[in-house]
Amino acid sequence: MRATARSASDDRQAARVLEGGFTRLRFPAELETEFRHHHLLISQHWVRLSILVALGTTLGFAMIDHWVIRSSNAVPDLVRFGLQVPAILLCLLATIKPLYLRVYLPAIQIAAPLFGMGTVMMACYAEPEYTPLVGARLLLVAFFLYFMLGLRFAPALRSNLIVLGALIVAGLVGAIAPQAAIYLAFAVFCANVIGGAGAYALEHANRTAFLERKLLGEMAALDGLTRLLNRQTFEARVTEVWREATARQLQISVLMIDVDDFKRYNDHYGHLAGDDCLQRIAQAVRTAVAGNPADLLARYGGEELVAVLIDRTAADAEAAAERIVADVAALAIPHAGSSTGGMVSISVGAATHHPTAAAAYSTVAKLADNALYAAKNQGRNRCVCVKMHAPGVTPSFATAQTRRMAPGEGVIGR
Ligand code: GH3
Ligand code: MG
Ligand code: MG
Repeated sequence: MRATARSASDDRQAARVLEGGFTRLRFPAELETEFRHHHLLISQHWVRLSILVALGTTLGFAMIDHWVIRSSNAVPDLVRFGLQVPAILLCLLATIKPLYLRVYLPAIQIAAPLFGMGTVMMACYAEPEYTPLVGARLLLVAFFLYFMLGLRFAPALRSNLIVLGALIVAGLVGAIAPQAAIYLAFAVFCANVIGGAGAYALEHANRTAFLERKLLGEMAALDGLTRLLNRQTFEARVTEVWREATARQLQISVLMIDVDDFKRYNDHYGHLAGDDCLQRIAQAVRTAVAGNPADLLARYGGEELVAVLIDRTAADAEAAAERIVADVAALAIPHAGSSTGGMVSISVGAATHHPTAAAAYSTVAKLADNALYAAKNQGRNRCVCVKMHAPGVTPSFATAQTRRMAPGEGVIGR
């Protein structure tokens, strides 16, 4: 089940990051984890293809060494078939579905610099006239690490710096002739500047697209005023949530929440004040029902909200309904036209579905709606809670548990 009990500040985090910029290619912790997961997932096919390309180029150079250059040097083959090809095959194995998300990144972060160091080793043992040819392969390695392996900029840079470091050390200890080492190190350094700049820009663009997509998703899913789920999203999700919860025999409650005398509030204070009041009520309700991340809370329409609480007993739902009524009353928003005592109040109708009743969402929602009307009829500023007991037994409001607020108290009594 998807988590929907996010705070309003979480909803706006992507917008804040997008606005503030992220030159260091890093988001706040939770968003960063989400981005990395997303990046890894969308890279999976590309990465597998790239590793096959790495295998193809490695074997291609082996063939050229044997059949075109006709080198008798055994070291390149030792490095290729003893280190690089096994590393490639292990990384390829890490791209299969059950391993990919857990294993691929650590594997590639070890294998990539090892592969590069293998090529440096080939440069160390190459006949002097072939050193520049191996150097060309080092440039390929640099670009490969930046663009082909699904590595983010930072780990790709780190892997490349290890390879460049190995090349410099090889030059310093004389394993590669000094002039060739200086030439190669400078060429690899330039490849890093160019490749690194490209990889940085690419990751920045990927991160921007990730944030924009997230924001668009939120804009489509949330109500602009209250930042609760909008009705369309609610209806799409409630079917799925209901199916999962009933399959797991969990108790589910539907709470219909309606602001009392809100038309008069608007008439007296104006629509802008009405909007502000609705936002404050939505925030109070969000806090009051917060619990299971699978819960749904939406603006059903106008000044009406709906909450679906998963895996909570009827007593829990009743307590949540009471809390909502009390917390909104505790906001103490003056309401000159209120019929309940001078402050903004709400009425709540709650219906709890017993797993054995096997009722559809629409049945339970209808019960909650009736309970809401009962709360309105009994004087508003209160909650009425009903529960379904067994299959085919529809509760009547004569047996409904009705809890009503003591006048001016903001707390409900039976
Ligand atoms: P009751 O206690 O019976 O629910 O009375 P009520 O006045 O709240 O109910 P009614 O359905 O007559 O009026 C609902 C009002 O809610 C009318 C409408 O102007 C107002 N409303 C609905 N959506 C919004 C909104 O987004 N902003 C503002 N400011 N008002 C809204
Ligand atoms: Mg109303
Ligand atoms: Mg209404």
